[in-house]
Amino acid sequence: MSSIQDTVRLNNGVEMPKFGLGVYKVEEGQQTENTVRKALELGYRSIDTAAFYQNEEGVGKAVKESGIPREKLFITTKVWNSDQGYDSTIDAFEKSMRKLNLEYLDLYLVHWPVIGKYLETWRALETLYQQGKVRAIGVSNFQIHHLQDIFDHFQVRPAINQIELHPKLAQPELRAFCKKHGIFVEAWSPIARGRYLDEPVLMELAEKHGKTAAQVILRWHLQNYVIIIPKSITEARLKENADIFDFELSLAEMENINLLNENKRFGADPDHVDF
Ligand code: NDP
Repeated sequence: MSSIQDTVRLNNGVEMPKFGLGVYKVEEGQQTENTVRKALELGYRSIDTAAFYQNEEGVGKAVKESGIPREKLFITTKVWNSDQGYDSTIDAFEKSMRKLNLEYLDLYLVHWPVIGKYLETWRALETLYQQGKVRAIGVSNFQIHHLQDIFDHFQVRPAINQIELHPKLAQPELRAFCKKHGIFVEAWSPIARGRYLDEPVLMELAEKHGKTAAQVILRWHLQNYVIIIPKSITEARLKENADIFDFELSLAEMENINLLNENKRFGADPDHVDF
């Protein structure tokens, strides 16, 4: 039986849960601590934060207080754009680790491909990886040409590419490229922040399977071998989002969801990072 704690094996052999909690826009302090605590109680084992989210301290506190052995957890954080470059990335990593209050990190990501900087940032991630401070390194919001640039300059390949991905932005070419090169795709805004939950196709499938539209979308990701980190501060939704391991979409149903793709982003375009 598959479950919320199932893992995938990354290209360096590290196991990562295919399901986790994202904490973008969760307020530092009580809100982050309560949300992460509740998620861990419900069986979540992977938490995705970022320096930019300014809630690493809350994540670290909830993790410590949970009493769950460190090796059972998978913690991700990311280097923000203004910290990119070799030395500044190393400094940013140390700062994040102090806030998280952890001995080691599971996954460190380059948050966006900042032009003229991301190669040096990747070099810093390689150093941190080789020093054993982080178990896996990856990127976020990288297009095919950014990934190719990394391949052309470095030995260590990203284990993960975390990208905006949902039924209206299915990114088939980028997903195929990542698969070919052994990079796992992780979806950010996996349910598009609730934007398309009233799509008739999704509502029909939800009705048919006795699930919600959000659960149908999350299941579609899993069956596409995509790692998901839906965010919620609402206990009922934390439960709902995790309750997707007891049903399966048929190939025809998967195809019906694929047809919703409009290559439509609501987030920033990775080829125009000016923030
Ligand atoms: P999600 O697609 O996870 O949606 C989160 C929103 O949907 C929240 O407003 C939440 O509300 C609501 N929601 C959650 N579950 C349900 C449900 N079952 N039914 C209806 N509404 C629901 O969006 P995010 O942008 O948060 O993406 C997830 C994570 O991805 C982030 O938290 C972050 O960790 C990461 N991310 C990474 C980015 C990057 O550049 N690398 C960019 C953006 C996100 P509520 O909380 O009020 O319950």
